Amino acid sequence: MSEIAVFDTTLRDGEQSPGASMTPSEKLRMAHEIDGLGVQVIEAGFAACSGDDFSGIRRVAEEIRRPTVACLARAHLRDIELAAKALDKAAHPRIHVFIATSDIHLEEKLRITREECLERAVMAVEAARGWVDDVEFSAEDATRTDHAFLCQVVDAAVRAGATVLNIPDTVGYAVPQEMSELIEMLLAKVPDLRYRTISVHCHDDLGLAVANTLAAVAGGATQVECTVNGIGERAGNAALEEIVMALRVRHDVLGHTTSINAKGLTRTSQLLAHITGIHPPRNKAIVGRNAFAHEAGIHQHGMLRDPLTYEIMTPAMVGAARSEMVLGKHSGRAALADRYEQLGFHLSVEELADAYQAFVALAEQKKEVLDEDLISIVHHGAMEDLPRAVELVSLEVTCGGTTSHATAEIAGEELGNRIGRGEGDGPIAAAFSAIDAVVENRVVLEDLRIRASTHGRDAVGEVSIRARIDGRTFTGRGASTDVVAAAAAAYVHALNKAHQAMVLEGHALEQANDMWGV
Ligand code: MN
Repeated sequence: MSEIAVFDTTLRDGEQSPGASMTPSEKLRMAHEIDGLGVQVIEAGFAACSGDDFSGIRRVAEEIRRPTVACLARAHLRDIELAAKALDKAAHPRIHVFIATSDIHLEEKLRITREECLERAVMAVEAARGWVDDVEFSAEDATRTDHAFLCQVVDAAVRAGATVLNIPDTVGYAVPQEMSELIEMLLAKVPDLRYRTISVHCHDDLGLAVANTLAAVAGGATQVECTVNGIGERAGNAALEEIVMALRVRHDVLGHTTSINAKGLTRTSQLLAHITGIHPPRNKAIVGRNAFAHEAGIHQHGMLRDPLTYEIMTPAMVGAARSEMVLGKHSGRAALADRYEQLGFHLSVEELADAYQAFVALAEQKKEVLDEDLISIVHHGAMEDLPRAVELVSLEVTCGGTTSHATAEIAGEELGNRIGRGEGDGPIAAAFSAIDAVVENRVVLEDLRIRASTHGRDAVGEVSIRARIDGRTFTGRGASTDVVAAAAAAYVHALNKAHQAMVLEGHALEQANDMWGV
């Protein structure tokens, strides 16, 4: 049977989920990782949305050469032109235009008639085709759209030159049977549709996103839109790893394949969690920490006899096999490089030098350095090209009484060297207030999470925070065997992101001004 195209929208729909925003360099790292999975399309963002997004898409389009790189645009000429500019260096650019087609959206949101909607859809597809050969059209809220009108819009978009027709379940309302019938109905009523790519984009508001996606494939869809870990607006999108493994494990019934390298699924999931600070629930299918854990004695007994008694797939299939390979402070650079290669990280000479330094520092603190520690080293700091507007030179904290006190030494190009002092209810609060005393940003902490990345008393603690900095939300992360140091690093990381965003906004404004001749 046929191969289904995988359209990854982690960097667009996924990035729109609360707290998941990524800097352009983080997007680029994720894009390389997703490219490595073997997807057909990477949707890199929504160019008209912000200057940050525009720069992020440009960088992805320049560097990611194998898959198609898509950019979202509303059915407005300015949006479409910005998408085209963001993609102008892409090897395989796709402009993805959308307009809502359900009566509720037309009446309440767009305040236009069906006729106007039809005209705008055609205008948008034609305008996008003026820039690129590959144009995707989405009928937003398709699953709540009158069937006859949906057929009319899809037919018009096909005639206008759309190469991909997407049928989104924007609000996660559909049920599987309905979804397959909808695709079958469209194929029956719009004859030329069979010569185009038919895409689905399902949301998980009722927990049915993956089921609906598979049902649509059964009905004739040939492209699936999804995100790593299922992140996305509200309850999220269909999870890439679940679709891929369902198609693989139940190929006997579903009959379709994807080109995804499933062994990379765990790594990709972990990288996204590290970058966004949003870790999938432990019981999440495929990539949750417990996805392959067996507690009950009777299960363990069966597993020892034959893994297939309780496992329908093995951890190795999705790259989740835990190696007990341990490195210590006497391990050399070659051993480290070798281990990274086995874990699937191809580090440059400079990256390896940075990672080695971090490894030695870590090995001083804990006897054994596990694979998870090594992954954590690569994901934190060492490979990040964020400018260091704020750098934490040293931090001292005293705690134990009712109030904790902290002294932080901060260095920065504009700040110079400064000492800040602060106090708080606990050591982390005191450290944050000492940093606040020095920097000029207004920071409101929204969320803080601490997680042990390995086990044991000397485990590496990972801290991720979400904060409003000068009115905008940023995430930051840090890792250390000392959680207070990790928290301070996360705080400084978020401050540096805020600084970089300000700089990029400035660049994007200049670029936009050049483009529009102002
Ligand atoms: Mn969506």
